[in-house]
Amino acid sequence: MATDTEKVKCLIIGSGPAGYTAAIYASRANLNPVLYQGTQPGGQLTTTNDVENFPGYPKGITGPEMMIELREQAERFGTDVRDGWITKVDFSEQPHKVWVNGEKEIHCDTVIISTGASARYLGLDSEQKYLQLGGGVSACAVCDGFFYRNQEVVIVGAGDSACEEAHYLSNLCEKVTMLVRRDEFRASKIMEARVRNTENIEILLNTETVEVLGDGQVVTGVLAKNKVTGATFQIPATGFFVAIGHNPNTEIFREYIDTDETGYIKNVPGSSETNIEGVFVSGDAADHRYRQAVTAAGTGCMAALDAERYLASQV
Ligand code: NDP
Repeated sequence: MATDTEKVKCLIIGSGPAGYTAAIYASRANLNPVLYQGTQPGGQLTTTNDVENFPGYPKGITGPEMMIELREQAERFGTDVRDGWITKVDFSEQPHKVWVNGEKEIHCDTVIISTGASARYLGLDSEQKYLQLGGGVSACAVCDGFFYRNQEVVIVGAGDSACEEAHYLSNLCEKVTMLVRRDEFRASKIMEARVRNTENIEILLNTETVEVLGDGQVVTGVLAKNKVTGATFQIPATGFFVAIGHNPNTEIFREYIDTDETGYIKNVPGSSETNIEGVFVSGDAADHRYRQAVTAAGTGCMAALDAERYLASQV
């Protein structure tokens, strides 16, 4: 073993609701888990304002507050929460090896991957400004749509997610304008038909976002451009939803762990097991479908229970 090498029973990578829930269960089962937070401690929820759909918070809670509480709950039972970024893994044999910040080497009996996924954004300055301000830019209609009920919103994207989210928003909002950059959808025909058949969804093909407009605090509209005619025009809106896909944070595992074509980790259906014994997955790293804090937490619980059972079977 190198000098700076440590042995742990259960290493958890990632600090969103999946990672912390795995930590709560693993620490209460005496697995002495070590959790590395990564570069965005708290994960995607820290970019969300109010979380109103997590059971047990009747008055809602802010994303950052919820993550602090989850961390405190995990630490209360002894989870060792650390700063650090996992830069490399070697899952070719037991114990599995993981490197932190390219230096420290950890040998792990079990690993729980909870590295999540990152929403893709357009990258416009105005989009990022109102995202940071919490002023009307969101990448999650299910999380934030409720705040825009009876208002007019714009959504960008034309995949299954965009269709699903546009339809979800159409049940809450006065009007949903969908900006599609090409002259066709990427979504499945049935999803496309659903948005096309919804009265309060207006679809603008060949249309791109030039700028998210606002008053310095909140979004007031979108400046859009028709790519065929070159004409620019404004769309009034209080919410700007981006649904152009997610990137699962799984690159460093792909040499060993099976993923689908978009990089989501394949779990054994109904469990958190991956193709490698002793390595488990929870949360959005394996879920392009639900992507909710509560589903991530549920799979975090599953991963800790699976890790515990795996360790018990090795004795
Ligand atoms: P996709 O990659 O399928 O679609 C992304 C969409 O965003 C495309 O229409 C793409 O346009 C558009 N887009 C990308 N970049 C930009 C940009 N810079 N400006 C404007 N538009 C942009 O991602 P999804 O999240 O929709 O879906 C991911 C996977 O999850 C898919 O396999 C999907 O089928 C699946 N899924 C299934 C669901 C279900 O079955 N219920 C629900 C949700 C997702 P373009 O087409 O021009 O590239």
